[in-house]
Amino acid sequence: MTSDVIVIGAGIHGLTAAYHLAQRGISVEVVDKAGVAEGPTGDASGVVRSYYTNSFLAEIAETSATLLADLEDQPGTASGLRRTGGLYLHGADDVEAVRATVDRLGGVGVEAEVLTPAEIEVRHPGLHLDGIAIGVWEPGAGTADPHRTALSYSQLLTALTVPLHLGRAVIGIEELGSGVEVTLDDGSVLAGGRLLIAAGPWTGRLARLIGADLPLTAERHVVVGRRHLPHDLADAVPHVLIDVAAGYYSRPWGDEGYVLGALAATEPGNPDHLDREVTAQEIDRLAGAAARRAPVRGRAVPDRSWASWYDVSPDWQPVIGQIGERTFVDAGTSGHGFKLAPVLGDHVARLLIGEADPRLDQFSPDRFATGLALSGGFGTARILG
Ligand SMILES: Cc1cc2nc3c(=O)[nH]c(=O)nc-3n(C[C@H](O)[C@H](O)[C@H](O)COP(=O)(O)OP(=O)(O)OC[C@H]3O[C@@H](n4cnc5c(N)ncnc54)[C@H](O)[C@@H]3O)c2cc1C
Repeated sequence: MTSDVIVIGAGIHGLTAAYHLAQRGISVEVVDKAGVAEGPTGDASGVVRSYYTNSFLAEIAETSATLLADLEDQPGTASGLRRTGGLYLHGADDVEAVRATVDRLGGVGVEAEVLTPAEIEVRHPGLHLDGIAIGVWEPGAGTADPHRTALSYSQLLTALTVPLHLGRAVIGIEELGSGVEVTLDDGSVLAGGRLLIAAGPWTGRLARLIGADLPLTAERHVVVGRRHLPHDLADAVPHVLIDVAAGYYSRPWGDEGYVLGALAATEPGNPDHLDREVTAQEIDRLAGAAARRAPVRGRAVPDRSWASWYDVSPDWQPVIGQIGERTFVDAGTSGHGFKLAPVLGDHVARLLIGEADPRLDQFSPDRFATGLALSGGFGTARILG
């Protein structure tokens, strides 16, 4: 059987692109070496924000959040979206860039307010503001459940009769004049008109099967969980807190805890060999920074911590575009791609059916070779790009 499009990857990007294709009546099938969201998507922290320095990504994130809200509201699906609001804390070096970013956000309909340290102190008591020159409050930011969201998209795909080939690794890709053939590890072959590789940290390896060389790397990143003592719950930070000055992000987790992750890059690694053990040093570094900002966090006790892979591009922005005669890629989301996927998937779907989408051009896989890498984020916190 031949489909119009084959999608490699049942992470949130592959699933949402497949969903938007299927909704247009395009025949599509999805293949994944594991299960739905069993890769990095299922390990994501689920921070949802539109505070991006790139206006297009801000706009995408904003509209995606409304789709996450729809999933949460509709019977039978869920995203876990909670609009907690988000507070961003910056040092003196970022003041101009923060003001410019908030102006741009206003231009694309994202509500965000610049706060002075004195205003932060009144509105968000309990934070030590050493080193903070400026803050931003985004009321629409919040948290979601990436695993639940991905499962919901897989349910929507099943309802649209899209085949999901799970537990089947792609080991071969051949572009033919009239289409593309994808060989699976059980020896079966899927034939399609076009191919989308949305395989997260394994994307570069699959792209090489058709001779495309993408500058993508995999970085191991940890998420550190802490649980408040019962008598501290009333003082817990109730919203997303992205402490750019101290280099970490945090979000409330369940009713009693919070999780933390770093904003800066780590060393590249081999995506087939994930060290899932989070070291005491990794925990102390993040928990210490969080405790210095919010003393209530210093009294919290260890909770579940985990590690997973970011698929990172040289400028920490997505890599989306055509890389072969019939092959396209959507990867390189560099630790910030969950929240973008519900709407970005629609743009990727349009690319696959040949509709021009000039706003995706900035993410072209060629940009690194042609000197058109993007700038974004704040200093080492390129994840806010
Ligand atoms: C620790 C952590 C925290 C994060 N926090 C956030 C956050 O708070 N907010 C946010 O917006 N984003 C966050 N992210 C980023 C987000 O998780 C990713 O951007 C997003 O999940 C990428 O989705 P994807 O579908 O592109 O790739 P993936 O989730 O990596 O999915 C790729 C899929 O391809 C499959 N695959 C690979 N090779 C093959 C093969 N040969 N054959 C078949 N299948 C294959 C894999 O099994 C996998 O399921 C975080 C990521 C991590 C790791």
